[in-house]
Amino acid sequence: MKSVRFWGTRGSLPVALTAPQIRERLVAAVRASREQSLRSDAEIEGFVDGLGFDVAGTFGGHTSCVQIDTGDACHVICDLGSGLRPLGQAAMAKHGLAPQTYHVFLSHVHWDHIMGLPFFIPAYVPGNRIVIHGGHANIEAALRRQMEPPSFPVPFDAFNATFEFVQLSPGVAHDVAGMSVTTLRQRHTGDSYGYRFEKNGRTIVYTTDSEHTLDNADEVHTFATFFANADLVIFDAMYSLADAVSVKADWGHSSNIFGLELCQLANASHLCLFHHEPASSDAVIAKVLDDTRRLEAVTRTGRPLKVSAAYDGLEIAL
Ligand SMILES: [Zn+2]
Ligand SMILES: [Zn+2]
Repeated sequence: MKSVRFWGTRGSLPVALTAPQIRERLVAAVRASREQSLRSDAEIEGFVDGLGFDVAGTFGGHTSCVQIDTGDACHVICDLGSGLRPLGQAAMAKHGLAPQTYHVFLSHVHWDHIMGLPFFIPAYVPGNRIVIHGGHANIEAALRRQMEPPSFPVPFDAFNATFEFVQLSPGVAHDVAGMSVTTLRQRHTGDSYGYRFEKNGRTIVYTTDSEHTLDNADEVHTFATFFANADLVIFDAMYSLADAVSVKADWGHSSNIFGLELCQLANASHLCLFHHEPASSDAVIAKVLDDTRRLEAVTRTGRPLKVSAAYDGLEIAL
């Protein structure tokens, strides 16, 4: 396992910054620069890097799509959200028409997790092989249906790559692309599946669209075991704790607080907040990240847990 790259980090629906939001950021940046001496390019870049991520960056954009660089020649991708489109463009730029194998692990077939596939250029390239792994039996039907008329102009059969579908059984370790992969069924409308990837002593857990209740000891134990000693846990933190336990209980998602508690119980190294609520501004996500880090510091009993918030373009080295 070498690294993880995030191509899509937003939940439910892609979002983009609007013109008024960009203007607001520029005004904030220029205002903050008033007392600064910014003569050289290096001084300007240093100043920009010192601005908050909610001014100088954005948590983006595309829906769920995460790439794992296992050190192997084949590609490993979690979910086919709209972030799959730029992933495909980058793969084409790097590999051209040379045949590639893509192993995809699908959490479930809700639209935000499959909408990128029709825009994935490698799927149209003859000689490419795309293997879609998942816990559901209906994955192929769902992928075909989103490309049927009258909803989409290009049918699934227009793909020239070969497709294979592999149904994984929860709790059974599968060898894929040199990794040991185990799955866990999660609470979500229509079910979703989390994945634990292990290779050469490194462990990544991808768990999204999963609702948790911390008052069920069996369930807490199951997830803490699934996350055990992970180097990185990519966790559905769509809601605040208040939302998750009140108005949005049973909406199928989780919060930063549940992620923190489960990772602490599991002795994980790094919690990455993921599947951000589309209505959340960058400032809101930055505050959730800050609150989670402060809570981690005051509740820490063992080694520190690193906490980050995923954004499109983030790369985490392992
Ligand atoms: Zn989702
Ligand atoms: Zn979902």
